[in-house]
Amino acid sequence: MSGAAGRVGLVLVSHSRVLAEATEALARQMTGEAVAIACAAGAGDGGAELGTDATAIAAAIERVCGPAGAVVLMDIGGAILSAEMALELIDPAIAARTRLTGGPIVEGAVAAAVRAAAGGTLDQVTAEARQALVPKAEQLGEAERPAPAVVAATDAAAAAAVAATDAGAPAATVELAIADPGGLHARPAARLITRAVAFDAAITLENVTAARGPVPASSLIALASLGARRGDVLRLRATGRQAVDAVEALAALLQRDAPPAAPAAPPASCHAIPVAPGVALGPMVRLVRSIPEVPETTVDDPAAEAERLRRALDLAAQDLGSALRGTDILDAHQALLCDPALVDEAISRIERERCNAAWAFRQAIDAAAAIYRQLDDPYLRAREADVHDVGDAVVRALLGGAAAVLPDGPPAVVVAEDLTPSEAARLEPRRVLGVIDRRGGPTSHAAILLRSAGIPAVAGAAALVPDAGGARAGLDGATGEVWLDPDPETTIELQRRQAALRASRRPPGARDGRVRLACGREVELWANVAGPSDARVAREAGALGIGLLRTEMLFLDRVDEPGEDEQAELLAEIFAAFAGAPIVVRTLDAGGDKALPYLDLDAEANPSLGVRGVRLSLARPALLEAQLRAILVAGRGHDIRVLVPMVSTAAEVSAVRAALERAHEALAATGAAHRWPVATGIMVEVPSAALMAERLARQADFFSIGTNDLTQHTLAAERGHPRLHALADPAHPAVLRLVRAVVEAGHATKRPVSVCGEAAGDPGVAPLLVGLGITRLSMCASAFDAVEDALAGASFADLATIAEEALAVDDAAAARATHAAARRPG
Ligand code: PEP
Ligand code: MG
Repeated sequence: MSGAAGRVGLVLVSHSRVLAEATEALARQMTGEAVAIACAAGAGDGGAELGTDATAIAAAIERVCGPAGAVVLMDIGGAILSAEMALELIDPAIAARTRLTGGPIVEGAVAAAVRAAAGGTLDQVTAEARQALVPKAEQLGEAERPAPAVVAATDAAAAAAVAATDAGAPAATVELAIADPGGLHARPAARLITRAVAFDAAITLENVTAARGPVPASSLIALASLGARRGDVLRLRATGRQAVDAVEALAALLQRDAPPAAPAAPPASCHAIPVAPGVALGPMVRLVRSIPEVPETTVDDPAAEAERLRRALDLAAQDLGSALRGTDILDAHQALLCDPALVDEAISRIERERCNAAWAFRQAIDAAAAIYRQLDDPYLRAREADVHDVGDAVVRALLGGAAAVLPDGPPAVVVAEDLTPSEAARLEPRRVLGVIDRRGGPTSHAAILLRSAGIPAVAGAAALVPDAGGARAGLDGATGEVWLDPDPETTIELQRRQAALRASRRPPGARDGRVRLACGREVELWANVAGPSDARVAREAGALGIGLLRTEMLFLDRVDEPGEDEQAELLAEIFAAFAGAPIVVRTLDAGGDKALPYLDLDAEANPSLGVRGVRLSLARPALLEAQLRAILVAGRGHDIRVLVPMVSTAAEVSAVRAALERAHEALAATGAAHRWPVATGIMVEVPSAALMAERLARQADFFSIGTNDLTQHTLAAERGHPRLHALADPAHPAVLRLVRAVVEAGHATKRPVSVCGEAAGDPGVAPLLVGLGITRLSMCASAFDAVEDALAGASFADLATIAEEALAVDDAAAARATHAAARRPG
């Protein structure tokens, strides 16, 4: 009873002992022992006869009435008289804390018990009992007034939760569909209420489907008034210190209460480009961009107009600086703001044509954007959005207008038109459930920022999501699926996916970078990073080391070559995030699909098969050696290793080793402190390297398999080709056989072998890789949870068996199916 002591107690007064005890049992189903309930029922020996007894009622009141008071519920006629008489028999102080209520004994007892268990006051519990027939009457069309109004009138404190706004307080919202065939019936509602009170947060529920509520999550009557049936979407919102915890726990509770879903065909969806993993579901809103029209006017004083442009550039730099602070993209934007191709061109146009600054800068931006748009390389093509982002910021600084804004309202799925990086950076995860970009792609800077912020997203959805949009949307950012106005079945399926993701999410600090298989063998989780903020996120996520630092990503937008010091500075910032941990730094992997503007590369008919990766570095020795010196200098005090991309021959590796020696000697000659010696490994991403791995091991200290390029070259299917998606699948047995060849070469030559292509973070392929003997997987940190889950519970022997099967099938789909089949129960 101790937990019940501080709560309002209940006394059930009935002519029938059986009725009272059955009512108590019903109430206890909801609240367990949280509330003190006493029955004073029946007359005669052991209460066996029908009747009521004032003395027994008085004793019952004294038993359950603590400092919070007691509520007495009665059945008919004489029960009321007996209860009134009992109040005269007891200590007046106790009588003063006792309320007799005319609420119905059965419904009233259940509702009052739940409210009392949730810590309701004497007034609130009494009101709850009194209103207990309202939902029933509502459902039967007999109600005289709507329940929410009743709740608001009788339960001011709880109703305040409804009105609570997030004025500064943390807030969290989730939408979920009711999967229970009985809807949000009394038992799950009662559990929800008793759990909700444990949180320091004001919590409300709203039936979005039926447009009822919001009501506070503290009253059974209020929740019943939502009339939530199976498939209805509930919006659960919390405001206060523990808002996020509350929403997560209550959503999980509602999901747990749902009976297991019958296996059903997945609901029909449309496919966009997957950009950032996660599942979102909610109302759809458009991101409204307010770029002022840019008029062309003539100016009298071109020098003054050029000065206006310079001031606007400064203002835009400040604006973008605050939006993009802490991101890896800020530098690139700042560089564009002083890029002579934009600024000099605009100023000379002002002088030449005596036109206004906004017009001149817009012309320069449009010309630069057109150049990016025409590039073959999808990565660089995606930079067009960055150019517009910078252009818009400058035009806003000149002509006024705010950055893109979300309309006020509950958290939503945001529909954007070619989301820019600064727009992505301004999206607050608590207000944005997910993003559907009608244009864009997976390599845009906006996409990178969304992934870092953990906002589920898809791109390239113009054909699927009409301009006008719809009322609600669902998306799965891992698969690219999009649903407009999802039906109840789809909503339930999406909620199931969200619950599965929530259940698998590890709290910060929960990972030590190792996954232990059932047999005790360990698989290491390393991170692929592309900049300082990536590195910090990966370290926090528990990565054991950096398995792949893509150095070409650091200077993607640069039109001028970054100096050695600048390179060393940026590298040092990244290395600092992984101090004490191993760091694999890849030399510039430019060319192919990553044509850095400052390299001024020749056009090639087949850039993926052209002068790229190590081939390009060896063709530009000064560039390579400057980079190697920067790596060695920044690597002082760190456990760095150098990785050579796109190796196809042993001669290439020896040439890089020689360049590394020269870099070391040059630094030593000037007395510059640096890391030496460093291990040197090779990327295995060309079939010749996989097949010759044992020979290459003479030159290489370790192997890192780049499944992205290895798949492209093995299947002759361009990576990222929109129509060759299914063919360019690293689960293809041909790719897996090459992985096995490298693992065997690694064993034979005692060289560690890891995988750093996307396959390492693909939960459908990673188990096959581990089954082939890979024990080090390097991936984007956001893939850790999914990969851990995919490996959970399996032993190496299990995985080796399915990997063997996968090597012996005809295609990637069949290979993936071996793993999927092994995970299915039974
Ligand atoms: C790969 O090809 O698998 C790889 C990791 O390199 P990138 O994706 O940078 O080409
Ligand atoms: Mg590659």
